[in-house]
Amino acid sequence: MPIYLYDTKSRSNKLLLQPKDRKFYFYCCGPTVYGPAHIGNFRTFIIQDTLRRILELANIQLKHVRNITDVDDKTIKQSQIENKELKEFTEYWISKFKKDCDLLNLLPPHEEPKALDHIKEQINIIKKLIKKGNAYADNSGSVYFSVKSYEKYGSLNQININQLCTQSTNSSGEVNTADEYDRESVNDFALWKSRKPEDGDNFWESPWGEGRPGWHLECSAMVHSSFDGKTIDLHGGGIDLCFPHHENEIAQSESAFNKPFCNHWFHSAHLKVEGEKMSKSLGNLYTVDDLINKGISPVVIRYTLISSSYRQPLNFTFKGLSASESALKKIECFVEKFLNLLSYKKENYNSKFIRPHKLTNFFLFQNAWDELCNNINTSSCLGEIFKIIRSDNFKNLTNDSIENNLKSLGSILYALGLKLFEIEESNNYKDEVPEDIKELATKRWEAKLNKNYKFADELRTEIKNAGWEIEDGPNDYIIKSIK
Ligand code: AMP
Ligand code: ZN
Repeated sequence: MPIYLYDTKSRSNKLLLQPKDRKFYFYCCGPTVYGPAHIGNFRTFIIQDTLRRILELANIQLKHVRNITDVDDKTIKQSQIENKELKEFTEYWISKFKKDCDLLNLLPPHEEPKALDHIKEQINIIKKLIKKGNAYADNSGSVYFSVKSYEKYGSLNQININQLCTQSTNSSGEVNTADEYDRESVNDFALWKSRKPEDGDNFWESPWGEGRPGWHLECSAMVHSSFDGKTIDLHGGGIDLCFPHHENEIAQSESAFNKPFCNHWFHSAHLKVEGEKMSKSLGNLYTVDDLINKGISPVVIRYTLISSSYRQPLNFTFKGLSASESALKKIECFVEKFLNLLSYKKENYNSKFIRPHKLTNFFLFQNAWDELCNNINTSSCLGEIFKIIRSDNFKNLTNDSIENNLKSLGSILYALGLKLFEIEESNNYKDEVPEDIKELATKRWEAKLNKNYKFADELRTEIKNAGWEIEDGPNDYIIKSIK
């Protein structure tokens, strides 16, 4: 079962292979823990988890490491605002992140190293880089990576280094101390930031004085520690990390350790909400809790986040959530029919069937599995599952064949991380709302769009008196029961 995955660096689909003498090394940049992760972050983490499950099903033994960014500009700033000690502050958000991961059925990575536990390793890399002429300290005690010292800089993003202005200051004459910047302003980036009053107590001793590491360095240190200094097989992250973060990881690691850093780069496209970039100011930045509080089951969130190709931006809408719930219920209905034929209880379905069965044949679901092996094509995989559900192929099968097909479907659902029969029955989706309420809600929305607010409010009251409540999003609304 060859597994192909698009590689950002070579711009081509490449085969993922089990190394002969060790596990397959898979590293993912993890969350920055200064608040709850949003559903965009989870789109990325879920597709990484889905790939891990596919690799396991294909008998590839792997080590999956996902780090935690608990010391950077954002975590320090927010902990200072909240007047909390950095570790106490980040531990709270780490445990929240892990709870959300459990809800969304993400397998825990085999290791989750923290940047705060790798300060010494980061200092050691800087020492090496200075010794080799790839980094230099300034008068303030900050240390910078010299971009022009690494001639392959830009190769991941296909940036020609000769066209870069690789000076040590930016166009305003300032050195680059920020962790994030765009490709138009590439210049030397900070490996070590000298102590500033706004950092509070968050500083460490180093040969260059008190300070703290720059953000990009942490992944080079954690990859090196978690994978015994070996070249890794696969590195994942959202597309925003491709530049500069991953370019900088390569430059630091390859300069310090004289060996290729990573063989294959896996980037996932971003999630948008109702067609717009997610942001707090637009009020469209949703966390897992926000959606659960609206009565949406975690399995419906996961289904929605994998329903389209990971290489395309995903437009997250409330209508999409509703469609995902209907789709999941169709799969449940289909499975239930066949469980009844075999006199199995649906309560045992998840534990008996949604498992990494080691199959060489996926029977009627072979095409669905093949789609997963072809660049994690989750949307075509789901399409293939629905083709089988709509067809009559299942009807005349023997009990043995039904069992084999249920196992095959179970393995695919395992790869997708979807469990069945877990949708909360108390949910209030548009589909369950009576037709007359839906009509009133449509009229109210139109009145609102036409700025006829008085009429819109009257309709809202009428809907409320009937036991329903409207909650508006930027481009859509949901109807919830208040009974
Ligand atoms: P952060 O917590 O900001 O360090 O991000 C954690 C992961 O989420 C990284 O791999 C990011 O690239 C990814 N990410 C951030 N925003 C989005 C988004 N809107 N859609 C998909 N992935 C995202
Ligand atoms: Zn990283």
